[in-house]
Amino acid sequence: MVSTCSVMTLKAYQYSISPNSEQQAQIWQHFNHNRGVWNRMLALKSRYYKVYGKSLSKRQLQDHLIKLKKRPAFAWLKQVNSQSLLATLNNLDTAYGNFFKGIAKFPRFKSKRSNWHSYANPQHTEVDFENGKVKLPKIGWVKAKLHREFVGNIKTSTVKISPSGKFTVSILVDDGKVLPDATTIEPEYAIGIDLGIKDFVITSRGKTYENKRLLDKQLHQLNKQQRILSRKKKGSASRNKQRIRVAKLHEHVANSRKDYAHKVSAELVSESQTTIFCEDLAVKNLLRNKKLSRHIANVGWSQFLEFLSYKMKESSKNLIRINRFKPSSRECRMCHSKHENLKLSDRTFECPYCGHTEDRDIHAAKNILRFGLEQELGSGSESSHAVKSTPESILDLTSGSAKGLEPALVGSAEAPSRTSVS
Ligand SMILES: [Zn+2]
Repeated sequence: MVSTCSVMTLKAYQYSISPNSEQQAQIWQHFNHNRGVWNRMLALKSRYYKVYGKSLSKRQLQDHLIKLKKRPAFAWLKQVNSQSLLATLNNLDTAYGNFFKGIAKFPRFKSKRSNWHSYANPQHTEVDFENGKVKLPKIGWVKAKLHREFVGNIKTSTVKISPSGKFTVSILVDDGKVLPDATTIEPEYAIGIDLGIKDFVITSRGKTYENKRLLDKQLHQLNKQQRILSRKKKGSASRNKQRIRVAKLHEHVANSRKDYAHKVSAELVSESQTTIFCEDLAVKNLLRNKKLSRHIANVGWSQFLEFLSYKMKESSKNLIRINRFKPSSRECRMCHSKHENLKLSDRTFECPYCGHTEDRDIHAAKNILRFGLEQELGSGSESSHAVKSTPESILDLTSGSAKGLEPALVGSAEAPSRTSVS
């Protein structure tokens, strides 16, 4: 079974927009009314569930909304794009469904005081690249910075405001392209990647994409400005000014992360490998801690995997997640023993059993490659195919008797077993 990292055939384009004051008021109306509908329907759904023990369907909520709109007290609902309200009902239904599937928390009420507001238009968004304008239903043509052109059918648009007060529109486009079939997995053209904090990405070929300097600089700035914010008096004008400064900094950090994720993923796709194995982020999060650096890294990782996933697909290459529910850093890739005393601070992996020594992250990336090949091609795939020609396996043979060692250990308790996979 091939489990790819995420399925994506639609592409999102995000642009900043500059609505005039009248349009801003209309956009705020959309934020507020959609939030109102979300909260009202969420309350209704919860009450209904408590009383009758079953959930109101999307259809029932839609009917209820139509009835509400007919009542004079709710006439204001007609001020906004009615389809955006239906989109909100859809999102609520999905959020509820995800909760019952056990993959998300129970949907929450939305606060007026939240830092983020958004609403969606399922249809009728238009883009005028020549004149730099986007047409939003019920609002009309809004000035926009259209830095990237696209070709294809617009599916939906989402209008957002950031904590620092910037309006953006995110447009989902179907470019009509049919993605090519993925190529077969060839061990010679497969690599594993480990995602880290010191280095953002480490490949099993030993290539690293540095991260630390950028992250340190940003964290330093964030902490500094956050401290200043915490000293400001609540409700004061200067506190509000500082809040916006911190929000802008957060946005700046997020944007530079995104650029970097695009750059690294583009480079990995352009190289000779046709299959990349990656770790399951859920597994990585077992090591979660509350540090800000970890949080930022985590956001960066999932975004990076998303970019990598669609770029690989477009080039008919594979990105495959390994289904292993334990971290890849502890198991010695040579003798398959577990190195229980490996600490997070240890930069070098040194096996207490066979003495194999290697950079910790490169060792982990090579393990990810090994687990991935086992998962997709069966155990022994690495030694029976890969040994032929990859520079890596040549390296393995010179650095120890890896090939000779493996069969003897296959039966041992520490050897990875196929039964634990899939
Ligand atoms: Zn070992």
